[in-house]
Amino acid sequence: MTDTQIKAPCDLCGSLRFKEFWTFNDFYYVQCEDCGLIHQNPQPEPDDITNMYAEDFFHYTFENQDAFFNLMKLSLQDINFNQIAREFEGERRILDIGCATGLLLNHLKLQGWETEGVEICKPSADYARDQFDLSVHGTNLFDCSFPNDHFPVIHFSHVIEHVPSPSDFLKEVYRILKPGGYIIVTTPNVEGLFAKIFRKNWRSVRTDHLFLFSRKNLRDLLEQCGFNVLKYRSWGGIPVEMSSGKIKQITDYWVKYFNVGDVMLFLAQK
Ligand SMILES: [Zn+2]
Repeated sequence: MTDTQIKAPCDLCGSLRFKEFWTFNDFYYVQCEDCGLIHQNPQPEPDDITNMYAEDFFHYTFENQDAFFNLMKLSLQDINFNQIAREFEGERRILDIGCATGLLLNHLKLQGWETEGVEICKPSADYARDQFDLSVHGTNLFDCSFPNDHFPVIHFSHVIEHVPSPSDFLKEVYRILKPGGYIIVTTPNVEGLFAKIFRKNWRSVRTDHLFLFSRKNLRDLLEQCGFNVLKYRSWGGIPVEMSSGKIKQITDYWVKYFNVGDVMLFLAQK
């Protein structure tokens, strides 16, 4: 890595001082020396990023859709989503950014929510529309041009680590969120137990993960973009493919207790 390859200032603090973090053959992560944010710098070209979400990504999404859906339902329970729903009785409108094949939106639609989805992977967007008759924009968030102050609730699970500028993304989310409205955000936790153990072999180290957040970095970014952070949770110990028995149960309990889970969740408000 040479200095000339560093293309962009840190998305969180604007610094241009980075150190190598994890290096691979075709991509690498650097860490901002000022705020600690870990990210790919330089990033893949925009066309290459778009191409990451083609047919192969759809197959990956489709094969894992039930597992992802179950995790999202658990995360909603964890933040007491029913209470949020009661707050917005009469205007239950939710946007799911990165809605994948639409299972969560369909689940919410059946509970009486007016739903809208954004999904950059076109085959997934098509599936959600065809299978569940959902309104899904097969593009990125910015191209949707939603009105100001529109959605009382916006959900995005495992999305923010994929976008080229999380701060621009969060500012757009803020613009379209109703004052008093909520966002529900989940992303891998780079300070979780498994990231610490597996390091470069951690399952969330992927070419399409442009950012790897710590709890502090994401909280700071949310606050910098105007949000009030209300709740933080983390969960997930041993991946289900490695152990599904008692050991998994015990690890899952303790990582959650110590907030060092593999995935973290924030509930924040405008
Ligand atoms: Zn920084």
